[in-house]
Amino acid sequence: MTEHEMADIFGTDRSLLITNVVADNRSVDIFVDEKGTIGSIGPEGRKDYRNEADFIIDGDGAIAVPGFVNTHTHAAMTLLRGYADDMVLQDWLSQKIWPLEAHLTGDDVYWGTRLACLEMIRSGTTTFNDMYFFMEDAARAVGEAGIRAVLSYGFIDLNNPEKRESECRATEKLVAHIRTLGNPRISAAAGPHAIYTVSPEGLKWCAAFANEEKIGIHIHLAETEKEVTDCTELYGKRPAAHLDACGILTPRTVAAHCCWLNEAECALLARQGTSPSHNPASNMKLATNRAMPYHWLSEAGANITLGTDGCASNNNLDMFGAARTAALLQKFFWNNPTLLPAPEALSMATANGAKALGLPTGRLVKGAPADIVLVASRTAANTPLHNATSNLVYSCSGGDVETTICNGRVLMLNREVPGEETVLAGATAAACGLVKRAGSG
Ligand SMILES: [Zn+2]
Repeated sequence: MTEHEMADIFGTDRSLLITNVVADNRSVDIFVDEKGTIGSIGPEGRKDYRNEADFIIDGDGAIAVPGFVNTHTHAAMTLLRGYADDMVLQDWLSQKIWPLEAHLTGDDVYWGTRLACLEMIRSGTTTFNDMYFFMEDAARAVGEAGIRAVLSYGFIDLNNPEKRESECRATEKLVAHIRTLGNPRISAAAGPHAIYTVSPEGLKWCAAFANEEKIGIHIHLAETEKEVTDCTELYGKRPAAHLDACGILTPRTVAAHCCWLNEAECALLARQGTSPSHNPASNMKLATNRAMPYHWLSEAGANITLGTDGCASNNNLDMFGAARTAALLQKFFWNNPTLLPAPEALSMATANGAKALGLPTGRLVKGAPADIVLVASRTAANTPLHNATSNLVYSCSGGDVETTICNGRVLMLNREVPGEETVLAGATAAACGLVKRAGSG
């Protein structure tokens, strides 16, 4: 491809032919039509689309996987990466994270989200489920970056009726704003933060609003043991039962962490169709002292998904790392090497995540949106290639991703992402400005 053709391939709605890639252990060609849909996926050279396609990408034996779906993050927290580590959760939040967040501006969230999207594109994630503040600015960043996101405003009322009113209005405003964008890649969800930051009235309002608007719900659940003890004392119920009584557990709900669920709560989540999001790196870093009970959730038939959490507690957005850490943590914590095998880890990161968010992506099939990631196979990490799924989960990292396509648009080709320097400079300036403002009170 000439340099001129390279420039043309980015950010345009043109048809593509991706040749010679490995999908589901067979060599295939993938044709993407100009609407951004997978028009055909089949044995190499079965039908020659060369005359139809505007661009041809030579896959050179790369492994093709669906773009990853990160079901729990706070994207703009990339600005806080490395700002405070190795602390006790409560001190970390009250002494470091919250004081800094108090100085956040919409501009910061824009640049933090641009940086997050860049990191996701570089590591093969094409969809993320986000919860934060200044979400109109996050939506602008996602729109420009070209990936897919479900955005929720972090609803926190702290049992204060006045604050509750303003949080309700903020949630309504974001949902209305995202509707006006009319961008098929961006949708909205309600984002009640957690049971310890949102009153039962606030939770009920979010549940009713999400139901009315036919949108998802994004919440943190049972992250720490203290959350369970406090909830039982206050409401006479464990966290999942409390959420259920408030109408929050629905098939459109994603519940992040779920570390301290008991067996009955796992069954309740599965029964209500609520999708847990496993965030192993964050849980280990903040020492939640218990791994999400994957075996109980899985036996109950829950749709288990995978997330990275924000960059202050991970500290990256690499879903390869999340899949590997999940598979290792489950085996280690529950003392069972057969728990969470590689194919299940890969499903969590792709099809299960898409299902949780109600999106038609997460699978490489004809008619699905072309969210496609090509992982280099002629690398040390992928040699030998006895089992592509095993290598993807246990051996590869985000740096092995060569090409990322979302909704038919090429966002990275052979590790090149247009405009990368601008994003890095803008995010660096925003992060330094934020720390400076917080330091000067
Ligand atoms: Zn979180």
